[in-house]
Amino acid sequence: MPRRIMLWYRNDLRVDDHEALHCAASEGAHILPVYIDSPTPQRHTLPGNPEIPGFRKKFRLESLLELDQRWREWNSSLMVVTGEPADVIPQLCVKYKIDEVFLNAETSHDESRQLHQLTRNLNGTPTSCRFFHGTPMIHPDDLSFELQDLPDIFTQYRKLVEARMFVRACFATPTAVQALAHDEAPFEPRFPETIADARSALPFHGGESAGQKRLHNYLWQTDALRTYKQTRNGLIGTDYSSKFSAWLANGCLSARHIFHEVRRYETERVANDSTYWMIFELLWRDYFRLAMEKFGAALFALDGISTRRTHPPQGRDVATFQKWVSGTTGNRFIDASMRELQLTGFMSNRSRQNVASHFVHELGMDWRIGAQYFEALLVDYDVYSNWGNWAYVAGVGNDPRENRRFDIAHQAKTYDPEGAYQKLWLD
Ligand SMILES: Cc1cc2nc3c(=O)[nH]c(=O)nc-3n(C[C@H](O)[C@H](O)[C@H](O)COP(=O)(O)OP(=O)(O)OC[C@H]3O[C@@H](n4cnc5c(N)ncnc54)[C@H](O)[C@@H]3O)c2cc1C
Repeated sequence: MPRRIMLWYRNDLRVDDHEALHCAASEGAHILPVYIDSPTPQRHTLPGNPEIPGFRKKFRLESLLELDQRWREWNSSLMVVTGEPADVIPQLCVKYKIDEVFLNAETSHDESRQLHQLTRNLNGTPTSCRFFHGTPMIHPDDLSFELQDLPDIFTQYRKLVEARMFVRACFATPTAVQALAHDEAPFEPRFPETIADARSALPFHGGESAGQKRLHNYLWQTDALRTYKQTRNGLIGTDYSSKFSAWLANGCLSARHIFHEVRRYETERVANDSTYWMIFELLWRDYFRLAMEKFGAALFALDGISTRRTHPPQGRDVATFQKWVSGTTGNRFIDASMRELQLTGFMSNRSRQNVASHFVHELGMDWRIGAQYFEALLVDYDVYSNWGNWAYVAGVGNDPRENRRFDIAHQAKTYDPEGAYQKLWLD
């Protein structure tokens, strides 16, 4: 009798390079693909309850819709249910007589708690869980150090990794899948109302095929990767940086797949400082995952992992927060960035650094409120990169140097010398 496996999709909404799917399909199991729509824990209440546009939700729904379509091609469909995973999964396991739940490991504090609860609820039942590591670029088992020895400084980590860089090969999309029939209602998403802004740097759709298309476009069609190192601090348009982040955050694209495509590009076109830098940035992404696994809840605390006696600012003033959110602080560079975020759900890395620094070091606000706002808005929101970068800018994260304050006027002069970005969003 074939085994019955539940594939619990979370931030891995794809069929390509999906080890759990590949494994289940190659052992001829009957697979039940499940996605659980559960409310994410809100760590902080946002002062003044600002309106949250639906860009992030829209991108996720598009990604789910495509995944559902892929499963329909295998004569099944994605089961989308609402509830608390630790309760819903055991119920589904009983109903569909599931032997094993396959899932990709997530290591943030809340996710770990949720998984702990799930394994407790499954304890004593015939169902067990098997974890895979399909989200980071480098498989944790291939690192040359144990998690507790992860350096607190990125550069030290990077050097360790680069000394024996190894990224596993991708898993092919299975050609045949035996799906387990289910009788839950078909997935019929209700999209939030959003208005597309012609100025958006992220005018893309969610889903695996759109992610793959973008990867192909950025590397092979426009050749933009060739000059990434020079353009990556840009502010306007689609091509100054890769824009892979939204697909990575939803798991529509795998970081491993990007890595191997960059290596192929290096062999077939050019290997230069730009191709190096793309992998360098993906190492940052891996690093923030590991750091959160190592430090757990500390990375969400006001003082982060800093052991200094001085605390970062703790402001929560409603009016100050509202001015920052609505892009009416009076600082044009900051205001342009915040309006871009509000109207599109995206902002360049340069802008993110500036508005975060301004929020903490000039407005004297609690960095965690800013991180919470980003969490609600960013289409590419990723718990590790968002909270890790915010803590870093606030000076309480990895490499907790005292002075992380950006000179915003200097930044505007350097990165927006003609004021084109400010005009684009403000005039
Ligand atoms: C305050 C703040 C909050 C952030 N929040 C997020 C977030 O929620 N989700 C997110 O994916 N990134 C976050 N970043 C990192 C970075 O800004 C975005 O990854 C990047 O702007 C996405 O655009 P891109 O895909 O075109 O990046 P590219 O420049 O093309 O980089 C390629 C990929 O490398 C990774 N990367 C690049 N820079 C970083 C970085 N600093 N940290 C971690 N990974 C990086 C991303 O996966 C990105 O897609 C944040 C940065 C700051 C300063």
